[in-house]
Parts: sequence; structure tokens; C-alpha cells
Amino acid sequence: MTLARFHMCIDGQWLDALSGKTFESLNPALAEPWAELPDADEQDVERAVQAAQRAFENPAWRKLNATARGKLLRRLGDLIAEHKEHLAQLESRDNGKLIRETRGQVGYLPEFFHYTAGLADKLEGGTLPIDKPEMFAYTAHEPIGVVAGIIPWNSPLYLTAIKLAPALAAGNTIVLKPSEHASATILELARLALEAGFPPGVVNVVTGFGPSTGAALTRHPLVRKIAFTGGAATARHVVRSSAENFAKLSLELGGKSPNIIFADADLDSAINGAVAGIYAASGQSCVAGSRLLVQDAIYDEFVERLIERAKRIRIGNPQDDASEMGPMATAQQLAVVEGLVADALAEGARLRLGGKRPQLDAKGWYYEPTLFECDRHSMKIMQEEVFGPVASVIRFKDEAEALELANDSQFGLAAGIWTRDLGRAHRMARDVRSGIIWVNTYRAVSAMAPIGGFHNSGYGRESGIDSVLAYTELKTVWINLSQAPMPDPFVMR
Ligand code: NAD
Repeated sequence: MTLARFHMCIDGQWLDALSGKTFESLNPALAEPWAELPDADEQDVERAVQAAQRAFENPAWRKLNATARGKLLRRLGDLIAEHKEHLAQLESRDNGKLIRETRGQVGYLPEFFHYTAGLADKLEGGTLPIDKPEMFAYTAHEPIGVVAGIIPWNSPLYLTAIKLAPALAAGNTIVLKPSEHASATILELARLALEAGFPPGVVNVVTGFGPSTGAALTRHPLVRKIAFTGGAATARHVVRSSAENFAKLSLELGGKSPNIIFADADLDSAINGAVAGIYAASGQSCVAGSRLLVQDAIYDEFVERLIERAKRIRIGNPQDDASEMGPMATAQQLAVVEGLVADALAEGARLRLGGKRPQLDAKGWYYEPTLFECDRHSMKIMQEEVFGPVASVIRFKDEAEALELANDSQFGLAAGIWTRDLGRAHRMARDVRSGIIWVNTYRAVSAMAPIGGFHNSGYGRESGIDSVLAYTELKTVWINLSQAPMPDPFVMR
């Protein structure tokens, strides 16, 4: 099979790596290569960062007013809408996500650009009610400089959009490093950014591996902000890199999100919510509701009905409209899932569903929807992120115990609460230590809604009205209005 050939985008040019090296991207549904990409090393990263720095200083970008930047972002959103089917197909082939899901995600993607476009010219500073009568002082938001965007493989376009749109709205330039497992759509996005009219060098993409390409980018002295989404172990490398260049940092990491079902919940909805939380996207979602906490009175019924529903999930080719669960995105991820399932069995968790690869004609990295019942919340399968279609369920007796279990986690990214009791919904929403709380729903996203986590789920927030501020420096300006000579230079004003 002939491989599709991609090039990196540096300074508006489509380039190979200087070394000439390439790597292959695999189609997870077929477990075979479908594309070949440049393997960027330090010298390619150097070119990309220098291009981004030049573009940052270039008046064609630097002097462009905020309203004009907003218009470019709006145009980029429109272009994404025009090319949505192509982008959805490409992402599904590259990372094995269901076509129905990539169509949904790409269909909504323009909203991130349109919403953020409107924020570009609303970054107002303030005049300060300063307590020194001879002084006038004000603040202004300015762009930071070159941003490094490090992207994982599970939802590359969405996770890029929520970095790229605010970075550009604020007037920065960016070098994106998509995952080595799913780079194709990010290169297409860069092509659309050029077509929209962003000057060359404002949006660059380097392709390659984390420890080489990614590390060279995050430690580069000209990088002023790193926006990272990925796993905790990688984040530790990135945090260390930022000790070199003092880049500002946002970290969107993993989770072990509780999906909490009270006895008074609408059970049909809660079961759908549990399926959406853990089996959608084959569980390869940072917000996966992988910890099911279920109240005693409905526990047995809930578990039986969840199993019955999960058994009917259609596993198959992600590009087939009828499929409900596709493969794991990488062979490594499948191995991680198999390892954690083996650990759970060894620890005494009761396997109620799945726990193996399905019998399919396809060679892809498929895994069955899996459910463990647990007696102890301290079990590894209740504490570690699996990033696969593996849920673990445990019972609780009352609201206090539900809260205690929900907060017994190193993570704090998301939580689902299923109840018809309004007061309880608000109490739990207040007391659960997570960045996102969904009440009687799960996996809802919006350009207007911030995402990000507590604890080991990272720091910083993306999306929402404040997202652009995270890509600015705040400057304070003092003007001395007095005509009197400068007083004693040895006394602080
Ligand atoms: P990962 O951490 O392996 O990789 C993420 C990115 O970091 C990739 O582009 C990779 O090449 C790069 N990278 C790897 N080593 C690096 C290094 N030393 N320096 C710089 N960059 C490096 O993550 P993944 O396996 O691609 O994605 C899965 C993880 O991402 C899960 O833990 C998941 O929960 C998390 N995630 C979080 C969110 C969120 O919004 N909170 C969203 C999606 C995924």
C-alpha cells in the first residue's frame, strides 16, 4: 500500500526534516501504516521556533490590530466548517476514533474559533485607582511570544483548537507538536490557517516523537509558554523543561473521574451516562467516567442493566457509521489496558464483562467493554487511569460516603452526579474536588465552558471567556503627572 506523505509546516513552507528521517503513522483499525511524516530533531525545532519568533516580531502580525486578528480566526473557523468531512475522515483514520464522533467534534470545532475570535478585541486592561495623586497608572494585556502546543493523540483537533485559538487571539505565534500517533489533522489545520491569511511563521507544526521533538521544543529558550495536554509522566518532563526557559505552563492531564449514581436517579439516563462516560471513544478520554459509584438500593439492578447495555455495543471499524466502539489508538495503549486488567484480576476485582480482545476479522487494536466490581476503593483499578474501555464499580450507602469515595483520588478532572434531588446535586457539585461537574449528563463540552483539573489532573484552564488571558502578559504602566522635580531618589515612591 502506498503511504500518504505529509510535510511539516515551518514559516509557511512545507518541509521534510533536515536529516531526511521519517516515521510512519499507523491506522489503528488495520494495525498497519498509512502515512509517512518527517521526524523532526533539534535543528528542525530550532528552525520552527526561530520562524515563530520572527513572525512574532514581524509588523505584519505584531501590528495587526486585535479586531483584524479576530477576523482571521473567524475565517479559519469558516474554513474548518468547509473542510469538516475531510478533517473528520482524516482524524478517524489516524487515531481510530469513530467517524460519528470525529464528525461531531469537527462539526463543533468552528465554534471554538468563532467564540474566541470575538474575544480578541475585548482584552481590556484597566485604569488603576492609584493611591498617589501625582500618578496615573493603567494595565494592558500583551501577547507572551512563542507558544509551544503539545498535543496527545485522542482528540488532536479539539485539543489543538483550545490552545491555538486563544494563543492567536492574544497575538502570539505558535509551534504545535502533535502526537507521533496522530499528526495528520494538525498539519491540515496549519494549511487552513495559512489559507485564512495568518502570516507565515505564525502557525508552525513540527512532527516527531516526544523525547526528541517535544523535549527540544519545550526547553527552547525562545519558548515563552507551553500548553500541554497528555499524561502525568510526560508532564513531569515538561515541567522540568520549563525550569530551563521559565515558560508559563498549562497542564491538562488525566483523570479517574467518578460517575456517581444515587438511588433516586433516572436509571435509563444514568446507564446511558455511564456508557457515555467510559465506553464512548473506547474510554480514551481524559474525562472518562471510569469510577462508577452506585448507591446500595439500586446497585444490583444498575450493574445488571449496565452489563446488558454494554453487551449490545457494536464494536467495529471506526469508519463505519454503525460502529459504536472502535479500536484503541495504539498497540502500546492496548498493552497498557491489558496490563491493568491483569493487575485488577490479581488484586481480586471481579470481572463482570469483557476483559479481553473481541473476536473480529479485523487486525486492529480492539478491546471489549469491560467492567470490574470492586469491594475496596483502594484497589489499583479504582485509583489508576486506564485510558481504555474499563470501568470499575463500587457501592456506597449514603451521600457522605459517596463524597468520601469521590474525593479519594489523586486526580480531580471531572465528575458525574445522577440524582433528582436538587439540593443534593448542588451539595455534591460544591463538595466534589474536580474541575468539571456534570449533573444528570456526561461529556458535555462547549467553547464557553472552561476545562481543566484539580490535583494531579493539572493546572490552568482552557476554553471559556478567560482562556485568552492565559496567553497574555499583564503590563502595568505608571505616568507621573506632576511637574515638580523628581524627589529624593533614595526613597521608594
Ligand atoms: P503523552 O503524555 O504520552 O503524550 C502527549 C504529548 O507529549 C505527545 O505529543 C508526545 O509526543 C509529547 N511528549 C512525550 N514526551 C515528551 C517530552 N519528554 N517532552 C515534550 N513532549 C513530550 O499522552 P498521550 O498518550 O498522547 O495521551 C494520553 C494522556 O493524555 C492521558 O493521560 C489523558 O488523560 C491525557 N489527556 C488529557 C486531556 C485533558 O484535557 N485533561 C485530554 C486528552 C488527553
